[in-house]
Amino acid sequence: MFEKSIKAYVEAQKVMPGGVNSPVRAFKSVGMNPVFIDHAKGSKLYDIDGNEYIDYVLSWGPLILGHADDQVIGKLQEVAARGTSFGAPTEIETKLAELVISRVASVEMLRMVNSGTEATMSALRLARGATGRNKIVKFIGCYHGHEDSLLVKAGSGVLTLGLPDSPGVPAGVTEDTLTVNYNDLEAVAELFATYGSDIAAVIVEPVGGNMGCVPPVAGFLEGLRKITAENGALLIFDEVMTGFRVDYHCAQGLYSIEPDLTCFGKIIGGGLPVGAYGGKREFMEQVAPVGSVYQAGTLSGNPLAMTAGFETLSQLTKESYQELERLGDKLLNGLQDVADKYAVPFVTHRVGAMFGIFFTNEKVIDFTTAKTSDTNAFALFFKTMLENGIYLAPSQFESGFLSTAHSDADIEKTLAAADVAFKVVSE
Ligand code: PLP
Repeated sequence: MFEKSIKAYVEAQKVMPGGVNSPVRAFKSVGMNPVFIDHAKGSKLYDIDGNEYIDYVLSWGPLILGHADDQVIGKLQEVAARGTSFGAPTEIETKLAELVISRVASVEMLRMVNSGTEATMSALRLARGATGRNKIVKFIGCYHGHEDSLLVKAGSGVLTLGLPDSPGVPAGVTEDTLTVNYNDLEAVAELFATYGSDIAAVIVEPVGGNMGCVPPVAGFLEGLRKITAENGALLIFDEVMTGFRVDYHCAQGLYSIEPDLTCFGKIIGGGLPVGAYGGKREFMEQVAPVGSVYQAGTLSGNPLAMTAGFETLSQLTKESYQELERLGDKLLNGLQDVADKYAVPFVTHRVGAMFGIFFTNEKVIDFTTAKTSDTNAFALFFKTMLENGIYLAPSQFESGFLSTAHSDADIEKTLAAADVAFKVVSE
């Protein structure tokens, strides 16, 4: 069923490392060939062999309205005909910024960039510039893009000094990155006891999304808010994944925490390359040209990306999220029931329209416990689901996503495929 994709992958590997432009797309961790996509609409993906899939990846999160939403595509066509980028201000940039600010209480000003990586990189520069401090606290298993100082090995032990995660990242660049376990407030307190006056910021995914989906335990985010405030450090929420995905007001609205800076990406670009960072005016006014913290971008705020973001966000209502909750419950409860039927160890997490599945009996609260998931069982489950028309993220340590285009019929078809897949896993 994958003949054309297999051929296309052979060609792709001749001209691009691993045949892809972002590593996880290569399906390496599930030991398969990637599927090449021809087109997509709503909740469905269609590959070049003509297979149809219900898509729970949604371009890794941005497409909360589903693929090729009519309103988004219609506006994009109109805007593209007027020019793709001017390198000069346009009103649509202000409109998107106003829309984000109206929904996110902690954000008073916003700067648009082109990716989530740029957003976190720039937010860190601002935090360091604003505090005059260098050290950053990040959590093991949290991913903030491929900026050098955040590509830090998930070291063992509680208080681990940063070691580069990739060749090409000089040790000097990561020596100011301190890593601790997700959901471990005591470890954060210990770090502050040791390095408090040197710590510029704590950066956190308010719902872990890059070790599978791992929600914050009660009190964790509140504790981070308190410790950072007491120590004069900034709290940065990386809402690149959670922003407008887990709630109408983002994760910070859901958990009622106001960070100092917030990073956005994915949904605010509606499927085009966008990131943004924003926060309190006192910090954002330190960014050039008002302040001296430099950050720029040739294509930042380009009219196509701004339009896709605006047309996406403006279609999302509080009711959209209620419906996503209902569908999410149906999907995850349904999967758990099928797993139980075949006695497969299985844990699910869901926050809003983002979810994670783990083949374990352990309570998953951080990267160590996430790693107890049986990745061979996941790979088998993934392969069987794919063969039965369900497109999941090709790695245990990624989150799944729902869109407003998913239907009850999609969920029912997914659960029927899961019945086949869990049976295979149990044998
Ligand atoms: N932050 C988080 C939480 C992410 O999930 C990602 C990407 O998945 C990024 C940052 C990086 O975003 P981008 O891939 O747009 O650079």
